[in-house]
Amino acid sequence: MRSLKLLFVSTSVGALGSGLGGGVELTLRNLAIALHQRGHSVTVVAPDGSKLESFSLVEIVGNLQTTAQSQGREAPITMPSNPVIGNLWSYVRQVQSCYDLILNFAYDWLPFYLTPFFTTPIAHLVSMGSLSDAMDQAILDVADSFPNTIAVHSHAQAQTFEMGFTYFNLQNGLDLSQYQFCLEAGDFLAWVGRIAPEKGLEDAVQAAAQTGLPLKIFGVIQDAAYWQQIQTDYPQAAMEWMGFLSTQELQKALGPAQALLMTPKWVEAFGNVAIEALACGVPVIAYRRGGPAEIIQSGYSGWLVEPDSVEELVQAIHKIPQISRTICHREAEMHYSLAALGDRAEAWFKLILQNEAID
Ligand code: UDP
Repeated sequence: MRSLKLLFVSTSVGALGSGLGGGVELTLRNLAIALHQRGHSVTVVAPDGSKLESFSLVEIVGNLQTTAQSQGREAPITMPSNPVIGNLWSYVRQVQSCYDLILNFAYDWLPFYLTPFFTTPIAHLVSMGSLSDAMDQAILDVADSFPNTIAVHSHAQAQTFEMGFTYFNLQNGLDLSQYQFCLEAGDFLAWVGRIAPEKGLEDAVQAAAQTGLPLKIFGVIQDAAYWQQIQTDYPQAAMEWMGFLSTQELQKALGPAQALLMTPKWVEAFGNVAIEALACGVPVIAYRRGGPAEIIQSGYSGWLVEPDSVEELVQAIHKIPQISRTICHREAEMHYSLAALGDRAEAWFKLILQNEAID
């Protein structure tokens, strides 16, 4: 494939590096590295205050969007004054002719709505499952009018959209050189993610408490009231909030965990934290739904259990010694390397640009 000039347009719910963008922040960084390694040029445009080393970064001021997962299914589209998402896309409109392809990372209505008004093709990486009627319609319209331009992270995520559409399953990948394999497990369990109701932290807290193993919690506190409630409800649980760590610090602290517990209440689109744990050699115990159910092979790289069953989580925790940490690490290498991600991304871009003589 000839080298492409790519413009990445970040999420508009938080600055890159803040943690508010969830997995999108790491996904964007890894895709940028994977594509840069293949000779493509990547420029990133993101909200003011963003941090992203080694890439040309254009920062745009404005007020952040509210996260889609905190709104109801019938919620109308809202826009703050001086919206950063509007400002991002005004900038993109002005520079679009300098790029071969624009890649949208925002789970927001506006970039989908604007797609037909642009002359440079826009690829949309949809990072969450179906959450609102307005977004469903916007995604469907683009999928119909611009074939191949929608990618998702898992089949389960795509299936949450009732009116099916054609999608590319990009999955995800990691810069594995940033994760150290840790053969020896310590005596704690880990939970990693945004602390917000859809992530179901309370189930992991209960399961860990029942086994007597302490639970180390890593991630940004997105919903302070929810976090407070968990502490009130389970005062005896041995849990420790470790803060929101950089990838480097996170993998170091996560490596010795006996297992990662993934207890989301929603259909997790992918779950970057699952492959980060595998990269460190940490088995994953997850509910059997959404992305984690497509990543984890039960009995091999962890255990998949009945969704919302704390009892089954506890049973799985007792079976952690049956899982080989070496196999977990190998799973990450086989399926979730930057090379694997880059292969998939290029295959997706070829589909989008097939009429534009890029080979
Ligand atoms: N994360 C991090 N530091 C932490 C905890 C989490 O960088 O201390 C990152 C983690 O690497 C992952 C993201 O937060 O990329 C969570 O993404 P995931 O796909 O699991 O869930 P999302 O937040 O997108 O729903």
